[in-house]
Amino acid sequence: MPGADPIPELKATLVSANRILVHHDIVDGFGHVSARLPDNPERFLLARRKAPGLVTADDIIEFDLSGEPVVEKHAPTFLERFIHSEIYAARPDVNSVVHSHSPLMVAMSVAGQGAFRPVCHTCGFLGEGTPLFEIRKVAGDATNLLISSRELGKALAETLADAGVVLMRGHGTTAVGASVQQAVYRAVYSEINARVQLSAQQMGVPEFLTPAEAKACEGTSSLQVERTWAYWLDLIGQGRASQPGVAG
Ligand code: MN
Repeated sequence: MPGADPIPELKATLVSANRILVHHDIVDGFGHVSARLPDNPERFLLARRKAPGLVTADDIIEFDLSGEPVVEKHAPTFLERFIHSEIYAARPDVNSVVHSHSPLMVAMSVAGQGAFRPVCHTCGFLGEGTPLFEIRKVAGDATNLLISSRELGKALAETLADAGVVLMRGHGTTAVGASVQQAVYRAVYSEINARVQLSAQQMGVPEFLTPAEAKACEGTSSLQVERTWAYWLDLIGQGRASQPGVAG
């Protein structure tokens, strides 16, 4: 609809993203997903501090790239909002960020640099491997591991560089995408890749994708993202198949 406000639609997409991430056990009481405003790249939408499964559109507020709320300045916010603000500042191509503590990715985060690699064709976005953020290198060996300042967010964004996913040692993962749908896909499929990789490692040494195979697989990713998002909306009761009387 011409002239329609994109913000309510983006908030609804973020609510769906939260539900989908809960459904796949990517987030639990912790974790968050944000989206950059399409008509104002210096701003992004993120829920106030709340468990992901409880987030409604009314909980989602606007932040600037310093990581602070624009209007509701005293709203309770996530300590780790700087993950989002500093990645948006560093990566103009990124329009959505998912931060999570999904268990197998935490396992991968403590397995050492280079341990986590793409094993299946749905995970080409993992490329030649996933960068690993080591907070001890920037803040010493006595932190609570949280990205609780702009400086730490900036260091995380530097480690992410141009990758789609960054592991955070002893903590979790941050996945990024050009859309909410792509960032959610990467968060869910990173955990799936970890599951497949660990299963294979119980039987022997896995055959990982070559960098060229990963790149070729990523070439079809927009179709994968579109199909999984439609299915996932249905899983959370927002898809066409779950609406009686809707044809198609
Ligand atoms: Mn965290």
